[in-house]
This record gives sequence, C-alpha cells and structure tokens, in this order.
Amino acid sequence: MSYDVCRREELVKYISTKKWECRLKGESYNRTFDKNVCGLVTKCKNLVKNLPKEAALYSNLLCAMCPKCIGRRMDADHLESAHSMKVDSLREAVEKVHVLVDKGMAKCPRKERINFTTNLFTSKINVLRRFMAS
Ligand SMILES: [Zn+2]
Repeated sequence: MSYDVCRREELVKYISTKKWECRLKGESYNRTFDKNVCGLVTKCKNLVKNLPKEAALYSNLLCAMCPKCIGRRMDADHLESAHSMKVDSLREAVEKVHVLVDKGMAKCPRKERINFTTNLFTSKINVLRRFMAS
C-alpha cells in the first residue's frame, strides 16, 4: 500500500529515455542532478503502518472463503452483492480509521489511539464472525 506502481512506471520510462538520449550524445546520465526526477516520486503514505494486529485479522477474514457460497471469497463486494451485507473493504476501513484518528485523536496519548483503532477493527471482525457463524 505504500508503493505507487503507475508512478514507478513513469519514473522508469523517464529515466530510461534520459539515459538513451545521453548515450546518443556520448554522455552519462546522473539522476541525482535531474530536477524532474524529484517530481516523479513513487512512494505513497504507508496506510497500514502502526495499525493493530486486528487490521491483519480483518484482512485475513476478508480473504477467507465464504461459508455459504462454494468457491467464493468473503470480500466486501461479495458480501454486499450476494448477502446484502455492507462491510468495509480493507482499504475503506484503513482510510476511515486514519480519518478518525487524524481528526479527533491526534493529540490523544498513543495508548488511547491504539485502543481506539483496535476497537474499530474488533467491531468489524465481530460482524464478519457473526456472519460466518450464522
Ligand atoms: Zn457468499
């Protein structure tokens, strides 16, 4: 989640083109002196950094096989279309947690923030577990 593949493609293409143009002139290309490379940053914000282990459990449950449908994964799209059950995809859940934490909990102690995010994922996990048990 912290790596933008499309931007990486642009960067590799740009550097390859510049290297080729420099080779044709008999020069060597050094990307450290190219100011255009700085605009093609490929790293994204690492959204899963500092999330509790419940986030990984939620992700694993969303990848589990559906107990009611043969051969189908229990992802958010399947649960909504086949079982009329609205759950957040992992990306949606992580983004919601970050919005909530950034808005209201930025100045709270770290332990309180961890408890808050753990509780959010635990409630989502419980929804999936109730569905699996029913
Ligand atoms: Zn199903």
